[in-house]
Amino acid sequence: MAFDLILRNARIAGTAADTPLMDIAVDGESIAAIAPHLEAEGTEWGMNGRLVSPGLIESHIHLDKSRIMDRCTAAPDRGTDHMHRVSAVKPGFTQEDVYARAKETVEQCVVNGTSHMRTHAELDPNGGLRGFEALKQLAADYRWAIDIEICVFAQEGLTNVPETDANLVTALKNGATVIGGAPGYDPDHGGQIRRIFELAREFDVDIDIHLDVGPTIDDMDIHLVCELTAEFGWGGRVAVGHGTKYSCLPPDQLQDLGARLADTGVAVTVLPATDLFVMGRHQDHSVMRGVADANALLACGVNCSLSTNNVLNPFTPFGDCSLIRIANLYANVAQRGGEDEMADIFEMLTTRSARLLRRENYGIEVGKPADLVVWDAHTGAEAVATIARPLHGFKRGRETFSQSLPELQRP
Ligand SMILES: [Zn+2]
Repeated sequence: MAFDLILRNARIAGTAADTPLMDIAVDGESIAAIAPHLEAEGTEWGMNGRLVSPGLIESHIHLDKSRIMDRCTAAPDRGTDHMHRVSAVKPGFTQEDVYARAKETVEQCVVNGTSHMRTHAELDPNGGLRGFEALKQLAADYRWAIDIEICVFAQEGLTNVPETDANLVTALKNGATVIGGAPGYDPDHGGQIRRIFELAREFDVDIDIHLDVGPTIDDMDIHLVCELTAEFGWGGRVAVGHGTKYSCLPPDQLQDLGARLADTGVAVTVLPATDLFVMGRHQDHSVMRGVADANALLACGVNCSLSTNNVLNPFTPFGDCSLIRIANLYANVAQRGGEDEMADIFEMLTTRSARLLRRENYGIEVGKPADLVVWDAHTGAEAVATIARPLHGFKRGRETFSQSLPELQRP
């Protein structure tokens, strides 16, 4: 048989160490065959036991407000007005401006191995639908490299801002496939959450809400989210992002929450870069971490993912769009350094995120799209531990990026 490309002797992500190395044949846009010592012809690349994973998934990122440090700096003196600093410059977000910044961020994501993305888009009156329109165009233009879906939400309050509600409805009628929220910035947390579920039912879309950001376990909104998920029959279609408050729960209470999340089908996305940067600003020493323990939630049966969230804005004035670096950051902070723990963490960038996004056509299996990344590592755990370099990426069988390893110049 002849194929377009054969990756020889690859370690397929998620397979046990004693599984033989595999040859992966790509034909057209799809994976055509997987077997050891595949008898086939075509262009051959030797993997030498290197890890080949499905493309990484950025399950929670804000393209529209990325790369704005030139116009609003992070709060000085460990201030907490991140949202207001961004809000103040949003009137200047033209469609062209959002497109240009988001394009740069997407390209950085692609060269770091990401080939699927859920981006949030905020529809507050100071930005209107301009960001959403820019991201729709970008998603169409970059389909060759990445599948982008748009989650629309109110960053600056919903129940008290009717124009934002109208913008959400407009966007949901025009291509938005997920409804999000930020009830922490709404005078009526419960009111916003209820409205989100109503919109989700009306437009038959999934839900992904910024939730429970804070340094204590007071006033957690997750109980209402679980209640409504059950009431609306939306299990498996609801995710919450951050959950910094869950990092403050004693183990027995975290177990109870985990059981409830698993039972109702609510997933959690941990966003370590932003959480570490923003949390604990009320403390002047022994500053809390505020990063939820995704591994502990996983052990309760909860689906979890890790993601970048913000890039180069007041919420997180850092970022290289590398998910494997985020995974390493999380593992370091959550003190999860065991081989199995880090293997689980790699899955929070890949298969678990795919489940969260309900991407059924995902993974390294015959017949599925050839969305692949070749790593300078041999296992997912090693990739997390070493912040391994992604060497090549493929989207639907076509190479989308490559990078070379550094070379020592010996004397
Ligand atoms: Zn976010």
